[in-house]
Amino acid sequence: MPVGYVQIPVGIVGPLLLDGVEYSVPMATTEGCLVASTNRGCKAINLSGGASSVLLKDAMTRAPVVRFPSARRAALVMFYLQDPANFERLSLMFNKSSRFARLQSIKCTIAGRNLYLRFSCSTGDAMGMNMVSKGVQNVLDFIKSEFPDMDVIGISGNYCSDKKASAVNWIEGRGKHVVCEAVIKGEIVEKVLKTSVEALVELNMLKNLAGSAMAGSLGGFNAHASNIVSALFIATGQDPAQNVESSHCITMLLADGDDLHISVTMPCIEVGTVGGGTQLASQSACLNLLGVKGSKKEAPGSNAQQLARIVAGTVLAGELSLMSAIAAGQLVKSHMKYNRSSRDIGPSSQVNR
Ligand code: ADP
Repeated sequence: MPVGYVQIPVGIVGPLLLDGVEYSVPMATTEGCLVASTNRGCKAINLSGGASSVLLKDAMTRAPVVRFPSARRAALVMFYLQDPANFERLSLMFNKSSRFARLQSIKCTIAGRNLYLRFSCSTGDAMGMNMVSKGVQNVLDFIKSEFPDMDVIGISGNYCSDKKASAVNWIEGRGKHVVCEAVIKGEIVEKVLKTSVEALVELNMLKNLAGSAMAGSLGGFNAHASNIVSALFIATGQDPAQNVESSHCITMLLADGDDLHISVTMPCIEVGTVGGGTQLASQSACLNLLGVKGSKKEAPGSNAQQLARIVAGTVLAGELSLMSAIAAGQLVKSHMKYNRSSRDIGPSSQVNR
């Protein structure tokens, strides 16, 4: 029952120089300071020669929970599923419902007589939740024919884990696992970011590492990755609820001679460039701006992977700028300046004026 749209302002940051390519990155947010700050981070990265990224893993997951009459029986099925000799057979079952879904692994765990099966698969340019769920259903049907005493309790048993913070995602990854890094020149830290390498390294250690450890954080070893992830997700038609695990990030700052080495490691970036909200007009336009809309026939999956790298690159810029603002004691001042606008630039307000 769609009734209309809720408008969210979109700003553009950049250019972000990432892996030798300049990107203008759209961010949908009501927090004005966020766009200005991320833009400053992009500037510092550009003036230092750019950032580079590496993609470590690309696999969406779904984990059903199934029950057996006994723990012993559940373990038997677990050993069957984990036996490398059975993998080809299981992947044939899994892969048959999509041209793009390709089973990579099945990780199992047991609670009493209940078995959790965490299926991981590549999904081309789709974020992949529907695709992976279809593959899982195929395998469950097959297991049921081999082990008729299995009861499927739920196609999702939360060991996936979708839209919830969890150690399994943080350790194993979900979606795209990306590391992005840059070396920021010492003079740029001083001129553009108005702080020093030493102050940034100390703040990172005490805030993002020790402070988050004291807070018992799970994947939150960063300053504000979720700010950037949410804004980019909304602009490009991703599922904003997946911001939970997509924002898992550890930010590292280290002195590199007189310069600063900064990196963000993000194990769960869940993005797609086909399907879902990516088809809508405004969201399509934002994906087009980044040059990653849809899929490349010759390299399926490459657009979604590129989008994940851009998310990490923009998070890098956001982390750099916010950490600098905190180190220089400018956080409150900048928010008073940029976040107090009551101006509405949407079309309906222009009609009313
Ligand atoms: P999701 O699995 O992310 O929820 P959909 O269910 O919409 O998304 O699946 C994506 C759809 O797009 C599938 O029907 C798939 O066959 C189609 N498709 C077309 N091109 C691609 C591609 N390059 N990668 C993945 N899916 C694609």
